[in-house]
Amino acid sequence: MNVLVINCGSSSLKYQLINMNDESVLAKGLVERIGIEGSVLKHEKTGMDKVVIQEPMKDHKDAINHVLTALVDANYGAVKSLNEVDAVGHRVVHGGEKFADSVLITDEVIKAMKECIELAPLHNPPNIIGIEACQELLPSVPMVGVFDTAFHQTMPPVSYIYPLPYELYEELGIRRYGFHGTSHKYVSERVEALTGKELEGMKIITCHLGNGASLTAIKDGKSFDTSMGMTPLEGLVMGTRCGDIDPAIVTFLMNKKNMTAEQVDNLMNKKSGVLGISGVSSDFRDIEGAADEGNTRAQLALDKFAYTVKKYIGSYAAAMGGVDVLVFTAGLGENSAPARKEVCSGLEFLGVEIDDAKNNTRGKEAEISKDNSKVKVFVIPTNEELMIARDTKALAHK
Ligand code: ADP
Repeated sequence: MNVLVINCGSSSLKYQLINMNDESVLAKGLVERIGIEGSVLKHEKTGMDKVVIQEPMKDHKDAINHVLTALVDANYGAVKSLNEVDAVGHRVVHGGEKFADSVLITDEVIKAMKECIELAPLHNPPNIIGIEACQELLPSVPMVGVFDTAFHQTMPPVSYIYPLPYELYEELGIRRYGFHGTSHKYVSERVEALTGKELEGMKIITCHLGNGASLTAIKDGKSFDTSMGMTPLEGLVMGTRCGDIDPAIVTFLMNKKNMTAEQVDNLMNKKSGVLGISGVSSDFRDIEGAADEGNTRAQLALDKFAYTVKKYIGSYAAAMGGVDVLVFTAGLGENSAPARKEVCSGLEFLGVEIDDAKNNTRGKEAEISKDNSKVKVFVIPTNEELMIARDTKALAHK
């Protein structure tokens, strides 16, 4: 069985075709600049060089059509015909309270997804456009929706309620939802495989540290609390997002600088985080480079980032009454030994002791804690596409 995994952004689209018999990736790629000049498809059949196809792609349907054509191409395609695409799995950012698990997509499901648009006005519309385009192009193929928020639906009310008038939760759905759920779930399931112990009874803190970053407290295999909130802006210091700030700063800026709501939103999402503090870049590699050359603001950005992650680890350990396993994943978590070291330093009192030699690793599964560390620390590369493909396979079979 082959599953096509689609992740549609506003002007981009990522895809992977996965053979679910052995979970191998047959082909993958990325379309950029959809609907803008310079549309480009970068397609890679496993074992072959990347091909770059530059053609105008006016919308997502056009882009998906190009992807499907590439997948069956005689030279660089991965299958002979589209009949060999047995199901499509779609990443959907916000499932609100409606979706606590992945679903087989029906007209009713699309209607419910559209009702979640106001919670994620930037993310959900392109996800839905991608689903509808695939339905038109592959009308007899089952489609499955996998939500970033679903894993966190197990959080107890004390984790998800905000201290605002309760009516706003009832009326508008203002509460913590959390994101990166597919990633947090994937790495926690890998913990079960790596430790050979059941998740029941285990307390795990997963650190998804990429451009977007979030931490999740996982108790008995279920999300117990997570750092992103109603939107992916809350929580950690990120590449360009501010994470937690005093909410009064928003109205202060609007008054002092005559900014509109949209301008403040843009400032907090696109111009803040480590980019805002350092003034150098949103990419941690650039910031680490600048800090090495003595740039003090770059160093402050790195320090603030690690300090915030550390504070969240401490608070989640307190919330769960302890921690047994700490996991690092995503771009920075998988690749930056200095960032992992900085986050863990000072956490010895919790029983976290990493081994510098073992920490000198990147991009592969590894245990990086000392043999006698009370808390086991792992680097686990995330694989959201595989997780989406597994759910898609399970639901398409039903
Ligand atoms: P997202 O999917 O949220 O865009 P990723 O998980 O791909 O992000 O992470 C991307 C980020 O990871 C980059 O912006 C960069 O800051 C960081 N990163 C990747 N490799 C390294 C590395 N070797 N050293 C430090 N940071 C890295």
